[in-house]
Amino acid sequence: MASSHTVLMRLVASAYSIAQKAGTIVRRVIAEGDLGIVEKTCATDLQTKADRLAQMSICSSLARKFPKLTIIGEEDLPFEEVDQELIEDGQWEEILQQPCPSQYSAIKEEDLVVWVDPLDGTKEYTEGLLDNVTVLIGIAYEGKAIAGVINQPYYNYQNNEKQKLREHKNEAKAGPDATLGRTIWGVLGLGAFGFQLKEAPAGKHIITTTRSHNNKLVTDCVAAMNPDDVLRVGGAGNKIIQLIEGKASAYVFASPGCKKWDTCAPEVILHAVGGKLTDIHGNALQYNKEVKHMNSAGVLATLRNYDYYASRVPESVKNALVP
Ligand code: AMP
Ligand code: MG
Ligand code: MG
Repeated sequence: MASSHTVLMRLVASAYSIAQKAGTIVRRVIAEGDLGIVEKTCATDLQTKADRLAQMSICSSLARKFPKLTIIGEEDLPFEEVDQELIEDGQWEEILQQPCPSQYSAIKEEDLVVWVDPLDGTKEYTEGLLDNVTVLIGIAYEGKAIAGVINQPYYNYQNNEKQKLREHKNEAKAGPDATLGRTIWGVLGLGAFGFQLKEAPAGKHIITTTRSHNNKLVTDCVAAMNPDDVLRVGGAGNKIIQLIEGKASAYVFASPGCKKWDTCAPEVILHAVGGKLTDIHGNALQYNKEVKHMNSAGVLATLRNYDYYASRVPESVKNALVP
């Protein structure tokens, strides 16, 4: 039976459930204890069993339901039949109940490109900084990021640890805050959901940037922003969450290294609430299927006051980063 819902909203509803499933895989691999770490290009560019299994799960689940999509996943994996246990067939009903923005209502499956980062923040994942990790599914149309889902498998991980301690001491029972993991989703023109929007402290320049991929360009650019505080954390998804939850005022990464699957979903969530993500020159990022994967000219993102941060990027940094 044909569905009354648009392709885009069905895809987002499926991506939500699929990202949740990937989050459970990310947690399971840690619980089982064998991370199966492989170095890709260098010691800070890693892949684990969780990256591999989550990507297989996400890409196969999407392709089964939407066979005409273009799906681009981060990991280079040999073709193999995917275990049925990894397939997620669900769709998040709350999303299906939302109206599709009219400009997207006629989109066909074959017009969409899906950018998948099965585990963003792998380096931090291997070091036990679990709340830095996200699963990213970004959806692009005509080269523009228009919808996205971010699952954060270890959201509330710290609370959970504290909760366990309190329970151990018989002090409190698990409250609603103790649920492990969350899923954030958004569509341009509709909004972003699954979190509480909060602005960073007014008048403060709190910069969030890389923890594992630092270099002189990044340091020079951050210093030029006149920061009150610099947060060094893993993951592009995690840093965008810091912006929308008021923990940081700008995400500054003046370096190549970050790829289209890192920025697609986070960019949508930020744009859906009025923020802005560009390269370090101020150019919008493109997400058509032919585009090169590397964001060679870095990333600059803010929820508010984009112009301040853009105006502080040194010319020397701009000259070193060719789009
Ligand atoms: P980070 O802020 O360092 O966590 O980087 C954000 C995303 O870009 C992560 O998925 C990183 O793996 C990726 N990334 C950034 N720089 C590099 C690099 N030099 N080599 C490989 N991946 C990188
Ligand atoms: Mg990533
Ligand atoms: Mg990744």
